Amino acid sequence: MGFEITIQKSENSRIGNFDPQNIGFGKIFTDHMFLANWDGKTWTNPRIVPYGPLELSPATSAIHYGQAIFEGMKAFKNMSNGKTLIFRPLENCHRLNRSAERMVMPSVPDDLFMEGLTQLLEIDEEWIPKTEGGALYIRPYMFATDDFIGVKPSETFIFAIFCCPVGPYYNKALKIKVEDEFSRAAPGGVGFTKCAGNYGASMYPTLKAQQEGFDQVLWTDPVSHQWVEETGTTNLFAVIGDTVITPALTPTLLAGITRDSVIQGLKHLGYNVEERGLSVDELKAACKNGSLKEIFITGTAATLISIQGFGHKGEYFEVLDNGNTDASQSIKNFLDAIRYGKAEDVFNWNVEI
Ligand SMILES: *Cc1c(COP(=O)(O)O)cnc(C)c1O
Repeated sequence: MGFEITIQKSENSRIGNFDPQNIGFGKIFTDHMFLANWDGKTWTNPRIVPYGPLELSPATSAIHYGQAIFEGMKAFKNMSNGKTLIFRPLENCHRLNRSAERMVMPSVPDDLFMEGLTQLLEIDEEWIPKTEGGALYIRPYMFATDDFIGVKPSETFIFAIFCCPVGPYYNKALKIKVEDEFSRAAPGGVGFTKCAGNYGASMYPTLKAQQEGFDQVLWTDPVSHQWVEETGTTNLFAVIGDTVITPALTPTLLAGITRDSVIQGLKHLGYNVEERGLSVDELKAACKNGSLKEIFITGTAATLISIQGFGHKGEYFEVLDNGNTDASQSIKNFLDAIRYGKAEDVFNWNVEI
């Protein structure tokens, strides 16, 4: 197909104020963003413009009825040759399109996604941190823009991409609460999509968990609350004995690209990995008999975070006590080496620009 992207460069770059040693997460935005409009029939006016406010009607459909989806992905600097490496971007494009289908939104063709993304990264290349642990977090998203009050699918949409440089994630081990009252997703619902409403709905249970001294909620299946699913925006792995277990994908689980990379990478490194049902009882029993070596969670933003312990119905289970973080350390090193171009990209995950 081929998309002609128009480019309007920023006249006052903010890069001079950018201190790659002091970034934080999600508060600094690069100079430009990519936008395209769906006019009801086709994607039009793909363009790169200075990062800045969008003008929207108060009746903008997404704000009222929630046709809004997003992705999260990262690009890294290969420090030995200066090239930019984007980690598995087509996986994000395809997941965006699975979300789009469920939410009755148009799909974004691979070439529009990749052209917009690579041209944006070329223009804002200087913003990609060259520091150890630094990366460019990339936020592609789409939302409904009809100004019409009535519950029906919007005819018009904006697809956009903006980027935030991010520093090394502060990896403190977390305490999680096994949720046995609230649910993140329901059978037949939208749990497998990255639609905005899923995150709005998770904030209240998360706030409650935080008030009880936990960092995050560990969601369980919405029917019996017996089966472990995932945490806030991360998937979960448990190492029991010599086996790394992660809950099998269901329609209530978000299929993390980091999850998939961790599974493939651990298998490549010789670990025994199982995707299957993981019950709260199994975790508690393994913790009590000492075979639960570690629990860790995975996602694009943080890559991998260790879990200190978990709470369930008022009881607390310490995990790190059993202390052997071999699996999580190995896979983190494996993924980092590929993403920064230091090791052979055995799975062809990087797209180099
Ligand atoms: C985004 C997300 C993940 C992790 O997905 P990655 O592709 O690994 O970043 C896991 N769970 C939920 C609910 C998410 O929104």
